[in-house]
Amino acid sequence: MRRPIIAGNWKLNLTITESKQLAQQLVNHLADVADRDIVIAPVFTALTSVAEIIEKSPIQLAGQNCYPQTTGAFTGEVSPKLLRDSGCHYVILGHSERRQLLGETDSFINQKLLKTLEADLKPILCIGETLQEREDQQMQEILSRQIKGGLTNLTEEQMGDVIIAYEPIWAIGTGKTATTEQAQQAHAFIRNLVLELFSPGVAAETRILYGGSVKPDNVDGLMGEEDIDGALVGGASLKAEDFSRIVRFKK
Ligand code: PEP
Repeated sequence: MRRPIIAGNWKLNLTITESKQLAQQLVNHLADVADRDIVIAPVFTALTSVAEIIEKSPIQLAGQNCYPQTTGAFTGEVSPKLLRDSGCHYVILGHSERRQLLGETDSFINQKLLKTLEADLKPILCIGETLQEREDQQMQEILSRQIKGGLTNLTEEQMGDVIIAYEPIWAIGTGKTATTEQAQQAHAFIRNLVLELFSPGVAAETRILYGGSVKPDNVDGLMGEEDIDGALVGGASLKAEDFSRIVRFKK
């Protein structure tokens, strides 16, 4: 069985003090949760402070990005090794905001993903289509390109640590969630792609998260779908009560 994961992407929000406060509230709300993985991704500058607060809780830490080199002349970048050193166990890669605003390509994301695995971090690979692409019937082509590009040169064993997040771009931060049927359809398509690229065993074990305006009032329906193994949550992850309710989804 695939263990569910609920991950909160705090994006470019919260000072160190605010991040510590939110992390402490989450620890208070979620200390007893044992049957699902809980991940939060604060800004880089708050990672080590938040790591201390969540240390003895079921909550784990993620970076929001990394660079595919370990050390060297790469001004302004952060390596997977340094994220691990800051207490992270996960890293979000290929978020649509980075693809769209910073021009990240599938091959660059693939380099990061390979380097992330070397550093003992679990990558959360984000993929998803725009509204125009969906309306032009290109969703499958886009997802296929992003999955094949992002997962190039990975072994079946490495796939055990990879998490995929399907985030239709038209649903991110817009309040427009995909219907449970739309999400399930995309997730089943992605799982089948993983099967074709790797094996039935890898496909059965790969966790695929849904992201895009997940809220307390729609999480239960989404999590009831066969191929939805968790959620990547933006806006609602900044409110302790909302995120805690999402973590405590009921099928
Ligand atoms: C995200 O940023 O990954 C996201 C899904 O955001 P939101 O939940 O706000 O749509």
